[in-house]
Amino acid sequence: MLTVQNLNLKTLVLPVNSVVSGFEQIQVAARVIQRGGLVAFPTETVYGLGANALDSVAVLALFKAKNRPLDNPPILHVSDVNQVYQFVGEVPRNAGVLMRQFWPGPLTLVFKRSEALPKESTAGLDTVAVRMPNHSVALALIKQSGVPIAAPSANLSGNPSPTLAQHVYDDLAGKIDVILDGGSTSIGVESTVLDLSVNPPVLLRPGGVSFEAIRAVLPDVVLHPFVISEQEVTVKQARSPGMMHKHYAPNAEVILVEGNLSEMINKIIDLSEQYICEGKKVGVLATDETRNKYFGCTVKSMGSRSNLNLIAGNLFKELRAFNITSVDVILAESVPLDGIGLAVMNRLRKASGYNIIKA
Ligand code: AMP
Ligand code: MG
Repeated sequence: MLTVQNLNLKTLVLPVNSVVSGFEQIQVAARVIQRGGLVAFPTETVYGLGANALDSVAVLALFKAKNRPLDNPPILHVSDVNQVYQFVGEVPRNAGVLMRQFWPGPLTLVFKRSEALPKESTAGLDTVAVRMPNHSVALALIKQSGVPIAAPSANLSGNPSPTLAQHVYDDLAGKIDVILDGGSTSIGVESTVLDLSVNPPVLLRPGGVSFEAIRAVLPDVVLHPFVISEQEVTVKQARSPGMMHKHYAPNAEVILVEGNLSEMINKIIDLSEQYICEGKKVGVLATDETRNKYFGCTVKSMGSRSNLNLIAGNLFKELRAFNITSVDVILAESVPLDGIGLAVMNRLRKASGYNIIKA
């Protein structure tokens, strides 16, 4: 029988290969959640850092561990649709079809909040973001805890999101109680955030469910201008607080190069030569088809351009991998905006701090 000792003194890493073989580990983690502790757990998108959403002290500790700005609310993770009706003030009619079609899965829905939730769980907003993750370990953890779990991504605020337990450990060891290590996450970018508290519904963050797939069931859905923005939005325009904050950035400066494939490659070659002349070490975030074009640089590939899902899956891992190199600047290729490509480009633009060069 595993026991939980030294809460907050050290971080327990518990491997869970499946819900069956890892049942004891999940039970330990659930007890930690019930006692107000912090548990990182795998989901299909990225690792989440969970706290009991009904415990305001635990939720505040979660913000502190991540160094997360207090105005950026976490997502409420549920294992049962009944929890939505319990913790949401008003569930509009269009929510049913979305929950049936996309849950469990990488779609977060924003609703008017209910008084049943402490204000810390919604960062003082009058709305709450909810999703049901499509990962057996995450679902078992929520179920065993018996409470909804408030969880943002399990990284230090500003860093690329974690797609491996090791990434969580690198950022948060000693600051959280447990990491459930369920291996690599499958999607690799965060959930799509869709605001249903307004009419027409607004897509606030592109993610694991494509805009095209949502539009097929909700024809009136619109993209928030920020999603495709090539520059920072002002606070007034930001509906989702996370929009305003620094995000996904590795240690080195990132420059995103946009344009058609051959012009983009030539631009990156030009820029790399320029930086190398200045005595800088250059990294290139490339793809399988282009990685051999660059010389004198540390080149990492996100995967083949023929499969944007694989590129999404590798994106954060490769951005983090530059941190153990000595590059001063990372020149990042862009990808098409179709499907999950919209989420990849949104993350790359933010990772670059909107330092975008058109080829
Ligand atoms: P993270 O999982 O770390 O990416 O953070 C959760 C994301 O959900 C952030 O981008 C938040 O801004 C967003 N979010 C959480 N609650 C709300 C809400 N009530 N309205 C709009 N966006 C939200
Ligand atoms: Mg995050």
